[in-house]
This record gives sequence, structure tokens and C-alpha cells, in this order.
Amino acid sequence: MALFLMNAVAGRVWCGYLCPQTVWTDLFQAVERIIEGARREHLLRDQGRWTLDRIARAGAKHFLWLMIAWWTGGAWVLYFADAPTLVKDLATLQAPFVAYLWIGILTLTTYVFAGHMREQVCTYMCPWPRIQAALTDEHALNVTYRYDRGEPRCSVKKSEQLRARGKPAGDCIDCLQCVYVCPTGVDIRNGPNLGCIQCGLCIDACDAVMTKVGRPARLIAYDTEVNIKRRLAGQTPFVKIVRWRTALYAAVIALAGGIMLYSLATRQTTAANVIHDRNPIFVRLSDGGIRNAYTLRILNMRREPRSFALDVENLPGSFVDVVGTKAQSNGRPILEVGPDQTREFRVLVTEYGGVMKNSTVVTFAVRDLKSGEIATASDYFRSPETRR
Ligand code: SF4
Ligand code: SF4
Repeated sequence: MALFLMNAVAGRVWCGYLCPQTVWTDLFQAVERIIEGARREHLLRDQGRWTLDRIARAGAKHFLWLMIAWWTGGAWVLYFADAPTLVKDLATLQAPFVAYLWIGILTLTTYVFAGHMREQVCTYMCPWPRIQAALTDEHALNVTYRYDRGEPRCSVKKSEQLRARGKPAGDCIDCLQCVYVCPTGVDIRNGPNLGCIQCGLCIDACDAVMTKVGRPARLIAYDTEVNIKRRLAGQTPFVKIVRWRTALYAAVIALAGGIMLYSLATRQTTAANVIHDRNPIFVRLSDGGIRNAYTLRILNMRREPRSFALDVENLPGSFVDVVGTKAQSNGRPILEVGPDQTREFRVLVTEYGGVMKNSTVVTFAVRDLKSGEIATASDYFRSPETRR
């Protein structure tokens, strides 16, 4: 929705300024510029023979590209594990194979996409240009060639002559600088184009040309088709950001944000689930009792150790034991769970003749001794047959 809103207000700003593909491509190009010089300089060098200087520069560039790609891949993988532990395991070659595999895949894709494919990814692989065409309207601010000002194109000299004679002359001198700098090869003067990632390089290039020829900047600028038409009709241009489309997107964002904030503020920080032993389903004890065993899992989603008292509901008179736990609170077992941890307990429930059915719903309730927060999980208590 944020992407939709951005698009409705100012076109493909995501693509030009925020998309990781664009940002990483810029970073890789910056490295290239620092090591191999400006584009023209390094293209000229690349046409010549392989010299020691050329080999050293190319080697340094690809090495740094691979390092950036490797850090990128590593950072992604560290999101999915305990980072300090994984770093240590990676360094001592003890990390799981899947961690090395994903770092390898992400390193390779970053190196290829940002270093070699660059804007080809935007033009041929990304679905966003296709989608955004359906989301834009005539009021969206896009990188636009102001043809009302630029046409008819002519040289500086000719335009001066035409103006001196009181004839119309456009500001575009057809120098093609805007096309040369465009990473996707778009000629923005031909109108809106799916290939335009709205990087704004053509704006800068054209501004530099306008400054040189003594004409006002922003022949190419963030503008709308509506404004061009208004200027041609002698009307004042305007920017209309609040429209039904932008209001709707903003409302959906506000609603979704509100729901997310509410969920975050009121979320449970304790959860429990239980699994009944499959085999045996129950055990008849020598003293006549029927015992069922369960695996109870408690999730502590707080960053502090917590103690929970365990109650078993719906089975009055039953006895509850938790293997390996002796502490009690009012006759109920106390279960300790560390910060941000999930812990499993083996729970034995024994019942002496009170159950009438061979399957009774039983609820395990764990209560935080400090905050009183409760989480429950239900399963069945199984008996051999209907008993008295
Ligand atoms: S850079 Fe400006 S003046 Fe040169 S061709 Fe493009 S729009 Fe025209
Ligand atoms: S240089 Fe201009 S036309 Fe090319 S992608 Fe960037 S904003 Fe679009």
C-alpha cells in the first residue's frame, strides 16, 4: 500500500531511490568509479590492451564487488539465526550447510544483479513497472519532458535567431545528453515509458545543459501531463496530491497500521500447546489409576525468565506430575522458562475413577506467577472404558 501511495504521488520513486536493486547498483557503480575512473575513461581503457594497470583495477573492482555481495548475503542469513553464534560457527566451519548455501546464492545473485545486470533487472525481470502503470494517473508527478517548453527543438544559434524574429523556438537543443545518461536507454522526450525507473539522471544532465546555454533549468522535471496541457492553454499549473486514489491508499495504510499497532500492543507474550502421547494412549496403574502422558510446550515471548503454575482443568481430583520438576505453588507444579525461549515438559496426569467417558476434554492452563497472564491448550484424557 505504501508503494501504491508513493506511486500515486510521485511515480516510481521506489524504483529510483529506495529499491535495493537500485541502491546496490549505485553502490557497485560508485566502487567502479572510484577504482576505474569515470565511465568514459574506463570504457576507453577497456577498449585497449590488457596492461598491468587494467588488470589490477579490474581485479580490485571485482574483489570489492564480491566482498559487498558477500556481506549482503551474510547479513540476510544472519537475520534468520542468532547472529553472534552463527558468525562464530561460520568462521570455524561448523555452521549448517544451508547457511553456507544461502550465503553463496545471495552473494552470487547480488554480484550478478548489481554488478553486471544492473537496470536490465528493472527492465526485463521486475514486475513492478507493469503493475505501476495501472496505478498511476494523470496527476502523478513523474519525470517528464516539458514539451510545451522544449519544442520545437533547434540549435542554440537557430533558437536565438528564431526568437529574435519573434518566432517560437523550444529550449531543447537536441544534444541527447538526457538519453546518454539514462541507465535504461529511455528517451524521455518521447513521453512516459515503462523503462523509466525515475532515477532523475536525465533531469541533472539537462539542467547542466540548460545552464550552459543560458536557459532556465528543469526542462525535464517532476511534472504532470495535466500541467503541460494547462500551460499550453495559458492556465496556471498545479499539483494535486490529495485525490480519491491517494486518500484511499492512505486510509488503507492507516487502517492496516492501526490494526498492526493494536495487535502489537495487546499481543500475548505467553503461548502453550500440548500433544498427547500416541503410544500408549493410557496406562492402567497397579493402584487402579489411569495415567495419560502429554508433551506440553510453553513459549515465553518476553526477554526475562518466567515461572508458570500449571493447572489441569476438567479433571477434578486428578494428580499432575511434571517430569523433572519438584517446585509447587499451592499444589500446582511450577514450570520455569528462560527469556525468549520455548521449553517442553513431559506432563503425567493420573485420575482415579471420576471419569465417566473414555474421552474427556482436558485443558492445561499455564499462569505467569508474576503478571497473571494465562495461556491454555486442550487435548483429551483417554480411559479404557466407561467406569464408575
Ligand atoms: S538534455 Fe535537455 S536539451 Fe539535451 S536533448 Fe535532452 S531534453 Fe533536450
Ligand atoms: S534517466 Fe530519466 S528517463 Fe532514464 S530512467 Fe532515469 S529518470 Fe527515467
